[in-house]
Amino acid sequence: MTATRRGLLIILSSPSGAGKSTLARRLRTWDADIEFSISATTRAARPGEEDGREYHFVDEAAFKAQVSHGGMLEHAHVFGNFYGSPRAPVQATIDQGRDVLFDIDWQGAQQITNSALGAHTLSIFLLPPSIRELRNRLEKRGQDDAETIARRMEKSWDEISHWGAYDFVIVNDDLDETEEKLKTIISATRLRRSQQPGLTEHVRHLQSEFEELS
Ligand code: ADP
Ligand code: 5GP
Repeated sequence: MTATRRGLLIILSSPSGAGKSTLARRLRTWDADIEFSISATTRAARPGEEDGREYHFVDEAAFKAQVSHGGMLEHAHVFGNFYGSPRAPVQATIDQGRDVLFDIDWQGAQQITNSALGAHTLSIFLLPPSIRELRNRLEKRGQDDAETIARRMEKSWDEISHWGAYDFVIVNDDLDETEEKLKTIISATRLRRSQQPGLTEHVRHLQSEFEELS
């Protein structure tokens, strides 16, 4: 069968520190057909972050201009900054039959799920094994000052409260096990009927062959 598949929009959400970025990195190494959606944000770059790699770091005026021109697939205000997923690269990637991975919050997940691309969306929520461990991970990451960590912890319950809106939920306890579970979910969802545009054609061929042989 020569069917090309339709690209998936894979959304990963969790409270900050639960492991989204770590797992997103592992998934990209797993399969070159997964492209990472690079969000635009008005927050300042953290040490080690590079413009155009982790985020497009923009000022508020540029962000708002992109929103008003319809250039964002979704956007939200998170931790006092604007974040959004540029639309054009997403469309280009799924048109090639490749997947786009989003590390976004529940507001963005909701907007994409309710958009015209909703049928091709796979949403996954990561829960931490405990709130204590969530705080440990934020501290261990060593990228935020104490005040920022406290603000993220305060917001974590708000994010967790949206877990029920996602297709799949994984408790990210053991990192390797979570990675395997993510791969299983993605591999299975790629086989969803709606992701295989060539199936109708293939079944038509089967029917002709069937009639020829009978
Ligand atoms: P997020 O992107 O959700 O904010 P990160 O991927 O930056 O979270 O993870 C936060 C910290 O927790 C990082 O230091 C990462 O190495 C660590 N971490 C992620 N998953 C696990 C896990 N399953 N077990 C232990 N540490 C983890
Ligand atoms: P951070 O500042 O730690 O990189 O991200 C903070 C939060 O913003 C995380 O929950 C992350 O998932 C979310 N986020 C990052 N990019 C986007 C985006 O483009 N849209 C939305 N809605 N949330 C985003």
